Order: sequence, then C-alpha cells, then structure tokens
Amino acid sequence: MTITAATRLYGILGHPVGHSLSPAIHNPEFAACGHDAVYLAFDVPPGRLPAAIDGVRALGLAGLNLTIPHKEAILPLLDAIDPAAARIGAVNTVAAEDGHLTGYNTDGIGFLNPLSARLGFQPRDKRVVILGAGGAVRAVAFALMDAGVSEIVLANRTLQRAEALARDLRATGNTLVRTVAWDGPFTDPALASCDLLIQGTSLGLHDELPEIAWPDLSPKAIVADLVYRADGPTRFLQTAATHGYPVYDGIWMLVGQAAEAFRIWTGAPFDIERAARRCRPDL
Ligand code: NAP
Repeated sequence: MTITAATRLYGILGHPVGHSLSPAIHNPEFAACGHDAVYLAFDVPPGRLPAAIDGVRALGLAGLNLTIPHKEAILPLLDAIDPAAARIGAVNTVAAEDGHLTGYNTDGIGFLNPLSARLGFQPRDKRVVILGAGGAVRAVAFALMDAGVSEIVLANRTLQRAEALARDLRATGNTLVRTVAWDGPFTDPALASCDLLIQGTSLGLHDELPEIAWPDLSPKAIVADLVYRADGPTRFLQTAATHGYPVYDGIWMLVGQAAEAFRIWTGAPFDIERAARRCRPDL
C-alpha cells in the first residue's frame, strides 16, 4: 500500500505488546477492503496511558484497541462508553471522531460469533461451565447471558471474584448463575449436563494444564479455551481433543473481537477465516 497524508492511523495500546497479532490481523483486512489506513502496536506502560490518550486526541488517530493492562484504566479517559462495555467494566475498542473517543467491548461477541458460525453453537437454553472469573471471562459471560444461555457455572480459584461476577450477571439477566471454588482437579455435577466448557484462566499460556474430570463431562459438550498460542492449540484443547470433544481455539475469539472492532471503525466486511489462518495456518 502507499502511505499518504490522508492515511488514517489505528493502533493497539498494551504493555507488553511486542507479540500482539493485531497488526497482522488488521492491516491485510484494511488493504482487502481498500481502507486507506495502517495499524500499529504501541507499548504504553500503565502510568503513561493518560498521556498516550492525550496523544491519540492530539494526533487524530481513528481508532484503538486496548489490551493488558489498559482495558479497565481507559474508562475514565473516554468521552462516551457503550452501555454493554460499561456493564462489563472494560473496553477493548475505541472509535475516535475528531478527538471524541467512544469505548466498546467486542470480546464477548467476538467469542460467540465464530463459535456459532464454525461449530453451530446456538446459545439459547444452553448450559455453560466456565473455569476462571477474570476480565476475559466477564466479557464472555455477559455475552452468553445476553444470548440466552440458561445456566452458567463459574469455577474460580478465588471464590470471591466469581461471586462478584455472578452478582453483576444476576443484576441484569435471568440466567441461573452458580459459583464454585476451584482447587485441584475440577469436578462438579454441572459437567454432566454441560453444552459448553470454557477454559478462561491464564493457565495454559505457559503450558500449565488446568485439570478437569474428563470422564464426568457430557459427551455433547464443546470445549473452548480463551487462551491462544501462536504455535498451535493449548495443551488443554489437545487433551480435550484426545477425549473426543470438538474444540474451539482462543484464536477465534481474537479474530472475532478484531472483526467487531473493524466493523465499528469501517463498516466494511472482515474475513474471519482468512484472518485466523493468517495467525495460525493449522486452523
Ligand atoms: P485476568 O483478569 O488476570 O484473570 C486471570 C484468571 O486466571 C482468573 O480467573 C485467575 O484466578 C485465573 N488464574 C490465574 N492463575 C491461576 C492458577 N495458577 N490457578 C488457577 N487459576 C488461575 O486475565 P484475563 O484478562 O481474564 O485473561 C485470561 C486469559 O484469557 C489470558 O491468558 C489471556 O491471554 C486470555 N485472553 C484471550 C483473549 C482472546 O482474544 N482469545 C482475550 C482476552 C484474554 P484468580 O481470580 O483466583 O486469580
């Protein structure tokens, strides 16, 4: 592409951000739809976020993604927040217009859309077990509740964190939400009737394996991992596959949230399959 004075600038702010796949996801899609734009990664330490956002306004960037550790800290720095993102309490996408910044959260819908499209998962009246209760799980749990799942069981090492998320979910939806303290190999009666099991802890990033009682898991369950690796499926998904379960890689959530951000910024189509294979040719 030719960069000119009219080229718009987008970027991701994170710390660290050097291994982000987002530039490799967005730049080819901008080119594919003829959008005159570039997307860069900016390493912004936590204390520099307010200055970075002043810079975004001053330089007239067109849009942003936020990743660890900025998804919550960005909220007070924005001019407007989409109600769904406000309820989650985190923003991963910002649209900028003449320095006016609006925050969105595309993580939850980014998880759900490819899951439905690729594996035919229809959330209504489904039962879901989620391991973890951190920021990524919050976004996914709200999206699942909004899409009509009947039950969410939240299992987390720190029970209070799961209980806080359960309270927030119950405050705005009708889904039955139950919490479980998770220490040691995970087993719970909910596994037997589970339609979707989601691994949402940061275990797996470094090859640690969250343990669950696989023989207890319903044979109809889909197994998803929010964690993704650039070099192949996580050990958790490899283990699920050896037990015969259909698996859903965290890369799909990554490209799904990117597709939603892209839609907010440009309104243009985004090829999720092509973007995912650019990140992981094995998918
Ligand atoms: P977070 O807010 O820091 O939450 C971390 C979660 O992992 C908490 O539930 C925490 O439990 C649990 N955990 C950490 N170490 C553990 C251990 N040794 N044993 C048991 N539980 C442990 O992180 P996050 O933002 O939710 O991210 C979670 C994972 O999702 C990360 O690996 C991230 O890369 C991935 N992610 C993927 C996408 C995507 O697009 N695919 C998007 C966002 C995040 P406690 O509450 O007990 O500490």
